[in-house]
Amino acid sequence: MPFPDIVPDLKAHVPELRGRLLANQSLGEFTWFRVGGPAQALFMPEDDDDLAYFLRNRPRDVAVTVIGAGSNLIVRDGGVPGVVIRLGRGFNEVTVEDDHRVVAGAAMLDVMVARAAQKAGIAGLAFLSGIPGTIGGALRMNGGAYGGETKDILIEARGVDGEGNRRRFSNAEMGFSYRHCGVPEDVIFTGAVFQGRAGDADAIAAEMAEIKSKREASQPRNRTGGSTFKNPPGNNAWKVIDEAGCRGLIVGGAQVSELHCNFLINLGNATAADIETLGETVRERVKAQSGVALEWEIKRIGIRP
Ligand SMILES: Cc1cc2nc3c(=O)[nH]c(=O)nc-3n(C[C@H](O)[C@H](O)[C@H](O)COP(=O)(O)OP(=O)(O)OC[C@H]3O[C@@H](n4cnc5c(N)ncnc54)[C@H](O)[C@@H]3O)c2cc1C
Repeated sequence: MPFPDIVPDLKAHVPELRGRLLANQSLGEFTWFRVGGPAQALFMPEDDDDLAYFLRNRPRDVAVTVIGAGSNLIVRDGGVPGVVIRLGRGFNEVTVEDDHRVVAGAAMLDVMVARAAQKAGIAGLAFLSGIPGTIGGALRMNGGAYGGETKDILIEARGVDGEGNRRRFSNAEMGFSYRHCGVPEDVIFTGAVFQGRAGDADAIAAEMAEIKSKREASQPRNRTGGSTFKNPPGNNAWKVIDEAGCRGLIVGGAQVSELHCNFLINLGNATAADIETLGETVRERVKAQSGVALEWEIKRIGIRP
C-alpha cells in the first residue's frame, strides 16, 4: 500500500528547493539487504544549503530520517513515513589538506576516503576501507574495524540539525562509544575532517589489501547488514549465537550466515519481517541459552505493514 502523497504539500513549504523530492520511492535498492517498503517522500538535497533550507522550512509534524549506503539498515516492509533524506553528489567530495588531514563529504564511501588517504601517503585511515558505508554512517555508528574506529581519527564533524542550523562537533562533542554517537538524532552529518599521519603509500596499500582478503575469507558480502548485534561486554556476539545453536538458522527467506553467525543474510526472497524475526529469534535463543541480552547494532526503520 503506497503512502498518501505528501510531496505537493511539502513543495508548497519549500518552493525554492533544488534537490529531487519524490513520493513513494522504494528504498530496498538503497540497502544492502535489498528489502523494505517505500519512503513516503524521498529527498536528495543538492548541497548543504539545500538541505538546511529544507529542514528549516519543512512542516514540523513530518518525520525526517536519513540513510547512507544502507549497509547497517533494515527498512521494514511497510516503508518509512515522512521524509527520507539520502545525500548524493553534493556531499561526495574528498580533499587532502596540509598536516595529513582529509576532508570528506558525508555521502562519500568510506573506502574512497581510505583510498584518497592511501594515495596521498596518509596512514591511519586504512581501516575505513573495510567498512562498506558512507562517512555519514561512519560518524553516526562510530564505525570501526581491525583496530581502528572513527573516533580515533575524527577532528570535526559537520552537520545540519532538524531546525536547519549548521552545526560543528569536535571529537569530544560527538559522544562516541562502541558503535554509538551521542549527537542528537535530528542532526544530519554533511562532512568530516579526519587526522591521519605520515605513511608510506605502498605500505598502506598492502594494509588495505590484507583487510580486503581477511574480510572476503570471513564475511558474506552480499545481501547482509554486517554485524547484526553489538559484541556483549567481554564476549563476542558470534560466539554466543553459535553456542545457542543458531548458525544457519532460517526464518522465511532469511538465514543466519554459516560463514559468520553474527551476520544475517537475505537468501533472495526474504522480507524485512523475515530478517527482523530471525534476529529476534536469535536474541531469544541466546538469552535462554547464556543469559546474554544481545543489543541490535543494525538500525531498523519504518513500519510493519
Ligand atoms: C558486509 C558488511 C560488513 C560490515 N563491516 C563493518 C565493520 O567492520 N565495522 C563497522 O563498524 N560496520 C560494519 N558494517 C556496518 C556498516 O557498514 C556501518 O555501520 C556503516 O558505518 C554504515 O554506514 P551507511 O552509510 O551504510 O549507513 P546506513 O546503514 O544507511 O545507516 C546507518 C545509521 O547511520 C545513520 N546515518 C547515515 N548517514 C547519516 C548522515 N549523513 N547523518 C546522520 N546519520 C546518518 C542512519 O540514520 C542510520 O541510523 C558492515 C556492513 C556490511 C554490509
